This record gives sequence, structure tokens and C-alpha cells, in this order.
Amino acid sequence: MTEAFVLATANPDKAREIAEIVGDDIELIPRPPEVPDVEENGATLLDNARLKAEALVSATGRPALADDTGLEVDALGGAPGVRSARYAGEPSDPVANVAKLLAELVGKGSPDARRARFRTVAVAAWPGGAEVIAEGTVEGWIALEPAGREGFGYDPVFVPDDGGGGTFAEMTALEKHALSHRGRAFRELARQLRDARPGA
Ligand code: IMP
Repeated sequence: MTEAFVLATANPDKAREIAEIVGDDIELIPRPPEVPDVEENGATLLDNARLKAEALVSATGRPALADDTGLEVDALGGAPGVRSARYAGEPSDPVANVAKLLAELVGKGSPDARRARFRTVAVAAWPGGAEVIAEGTVEGWIALEPAGREGFGYDPVFVPDDGGGGTFAEMTALEKHALSHRGRAFRELARQLRDARPGA
């Protein structure tokens, strides 16, 4: 890529993962610390990813990249979904979110009853309004109890289907990215940006 993108996320865990996933395929500029947080009040993951990307385009005058991610649990009608960050209330607290999720699933003992997926929507936005959108999902289930110390957020209770039975928090970053919602979304975004390049 000749073009550099400001990374809109203020979450250091997500920023690290995105940088690891895109490697040299997309040049990233760190989010300027003086840009205020964007209120994520959209109705969908796409709305929120767009809000974040467009806010950074406006603040910097440069192209920007953003993602929004939700955990969808079938037994909870797709919750926490777009509300995953603040599932247990404000301010966002990952330990409280995991505790609430496990409490909501008490009595649902089998992997089938605990089906879930992570979904990431990634948006690249340019001054002038052009955008490229990519989505990535990973299917799995919610573990009976947390396991592992890697990753962040809901990783200690998410068991991806093709990950050998462990949670994301029991995997190395590389193992997680190979399977994850964010890995899939940003590899697809990088592919679309590469294909859109003049002469590609
Ligand atoms: P957001 O995309 O920053 O709004 O993230 C929504 C919520 O999902 C936050 O509570 C994150 O901690 C959580 N989350 C986002 N990505 C991941 C992930 O890769 N693993 C586990 N939890 C995540």
C-alpha cells in the first residue's frame, strides 16, 4: 500500500491485534491521543465502525480504519451483540461482562446450548466519503468457566470450533488471528484494498 490509514481504535488490545494481522499489507498511523473518544451509539456493528472511522477522517483529514466487534450468543437471542462492551453496564468492564454472560447461561450445560460467534465489521474510510467494508466471523461456544491468560475481553470464555477445544485466551496471538473474527475481517479488508489499487 502507498496510502497510510489512521487507526481509529482507542483500545490498545484491538490496536495491537490489528497491527499484527495486517503486518506490512496496510500502513497504519496510531490514533492521535488528542482526538476524543467517539460515542458508540449506533444500532449495528457497521454503524459503530463507520462512526469511529469517519470521526478520525474528520479529525485528521486522512483515510482511517476502524472496527466494531460483537459476541452473539444464540441462547440469548444474539446478545450481547452490539452492546458487548457495556453488557454489564458503564464503564466497560471485561471481568464483569464475562461474569454476567456466564450467569445468564447457567442451566445451559452443553456446547450446543451455548453456541456463539464473534463478528467484526471493519471499515476503511476516506475524506470525501469513499469507504470499503469487510466482515469476519468465527463460530464457537461459551465455556463453562474462564480459561487462559492471553487475549482480552471475552477471550477466556470463547471456544472457537476449529481451535482444538481451548479458549482464545489459551492460544498464542498467531493461533487466535488465524481463526478469529478480526483476523478474517482485516485480511479480507487488506485484500479488497490491494485489489482496488491502481494497476492491481
Ligand atoms: P468493541 O469492538 O471495542 O466495541 O468491542 C466490543 C466488546 O467486545 C468489548 O467488550 C471487547 O472487550 C470485546 N471484544 C472485542 N474483540 C474481542 C476479541 O477479539 N476477543 C474477546 N473480546 C473481544
